[in-house]
Amino acid sequence: RFITFEGGEGAGKSTQIKRLAERLEAQGHSVLITREPGGTAGAEAIRHVILSGAAEPYGTEMEALLFAAARSDNVQNIILPALRAGKIVLCDRFLDSSRVYQGMTGNVDMDFVLQMERAVTEGARPGLTLIFDLPAEIGAERAAKRRTEDQPDRYEKEALAQQEARRQAFLKIAKDEPDRCLVIDASQPIADVNKAVDTAVDAYLGA
Ligand code: C5P
Repeated sequence: RFITFEGGEGAGKSTQIKRLAERLEAQGHSVLITREPGGTAGAEAIRHVILSGAAEPYGTEMEALLFAAARSDNVQNIILPALRAGKIVLCDRFLDSSRVYQGMTGNVDMDFVLQMERAVTEGARPGLTLIFDLPAEIGAERAAKRRTEDQPDRYEKEALAQQEARRQAFLKIAKDEPDRCLVIDASQPIADVNKAVDTAVDAYLGA
């Protein structure tokens, strides 16, 4: 069982993933957490290249291929083995981030994005995708307060209008694929976000 977490910056995805993993493990489930870009040593190295802006001069297509390379490594070496071992896999961003950031609101041809997606995610498609939805201003404020090894990354410095466009793109995906996607209102009090996540995950796992 494969669950992905998507949405804009500062929406609280990684906090939710950690909390959910602890809850599922306490119930006796075996859980694997991974993230994109990242998850393996090679993919984390690619993450650093992309988020530091080092690949920026070479164009968006090369960057999209780097995201795909990182995904391929993560899928082959982390995600598929865990799924085969019967684990619940929780992934922080996956194919919808590529569709939104590179395709729908970026400069990369959508057919190319979908071709890369097919090439590297065959056999590893999420059964449930939680899309954390938040007004762009709130996400930007929250993201600005957070500092990690590669933050603030260049995506977070971009204009609010761009973030709002991404928000709408994620919402469109949710509308187009209602069987897989569920929108979580990430501006709610944390207790309500927790509850919405738990209800959706329990329904998916019980199904
Ligand atoms: O959510 P997190 O901070 O881990 O995401 C890293 C950055 O990489 C984000 O700012 C996101 O915008 C970007 N990204 C992207 N395309 C992807 C995956 C992530 O532009 N396919």
